[in-house]
Amino acid sequence: MWKTLELDEAIHIIPIEDLRQHEESSKCWCNPSIENDLNKDIITNNSLDERELYETGCKKPH
Ligand SMILES: [Zn+2]
Repeated sequence: MWKTLELDEAIHIIPIEDLRQHEESSKCWCNPSIENDLNKDIITNNSLDERELYETGCKKPH
């Protein structure tokens, strides 16, 4: 599960209930990827449990 948090300056996409708490910032420990879309940055956090790899099919659950 992911949450999308839309703030004035950017949109943050953050994994919820990750193994470690994320900051709503591009300076988060997970080294988020930042894309520019229209007039806002989209800051996508990287989950510590690598859930995005499962969701995109790169890894299969055990
Ligand atoms: Zn993060």
